Amino acid sequence: MASRKVKGICHICGINIELTYEHVPPRKAFNSKPVFYQDLQDLLEDQNFLDSSQGKPNQKGVGGYTLCERCNTTTGSWYGTAYVDWTYKAMNVLKYTRGKPSIYYPFYIFPLRVIKQIICMFFSTNGSEFQKNHPDLVKFVLDRKARHLAQDIQICAFYNTSPRSRQSGIAGIFSSRGQHHFSEIAFLPFGYVMTFDSTPPDERMCDISCFADYGFNDWKNLSLNLPILPIYSYLPGDYRTKEELDKILPSMSDE
Ligand SMILES: [Zn+2]
Repeated sequence: MASRKVKGICHICGINIELTYEHVPPRKAFNSKPVFYQDLQDLLEDQNFLDSSQGKPNQKGVGGYTLCERCNTTTGSWYGTAYVDWTYKAMNVLKYTRGKPSIYYPFYIFPLRVIKQIICMFFSTNGSEFQKNHPDLVKFVLDRKARHLAQDIQICAFYNTSPRSRQSGIAGIFSSRGQHHFSEIAFLPFGYVMTFDSTPPDERMCDISCFADYGFNDWKNLSLNLPILPIYSYLPGDYRTKEELDKILPSMSDE
């Protein structure tokens, strides 16, 4: 079968060139199965549509033609394995706690590589203009030894035990704690938000920005107590359970 050629702006380096398919999260991090992209209008009409097998099939797993071959290959080779390892460790925690982790668990990981892969995923999730506005983040992922995040950027994590996934570019929402600007990626077993000069949309999530302060070859044992946040609705930053949503929107409850 002839391979598809897609030209466009690489979401990391900003060069207009042939693009390659970038899995978000990486294919080996449980993202190798065909998925179904849902039409937003269908979702607005029927929330249960998220569970159906209708929609446009995507045989490659979640992702898109977002990165040039160079950015895809270099970042994948530097950070991909460490990221996959981190997701397998989380899956083990969830398995051994039967999906109810409640204390701190040790994670032996390469923190800097993990957070760099997460930020690469945010580049792919956001539009190709994102890199123009965040040259510091471009440098952070294209220089494998670069460390530290700018003060206004925060990466927060939580467990997502739902089979549902959700990704959004920068969104703005209001809560009782103020306004939140963030981008979100949720895919079993994790969810992440990247915040921009604001607090995260939910105060239960765990700030892992300190992963950026380690060295490229630092292999560390970090004790993490990540919360499980429900991913049920399609709205970014919405961590209400199905039961909570059913109370507000009874028409959307399952028959
Ligand atoms: Zn590139």
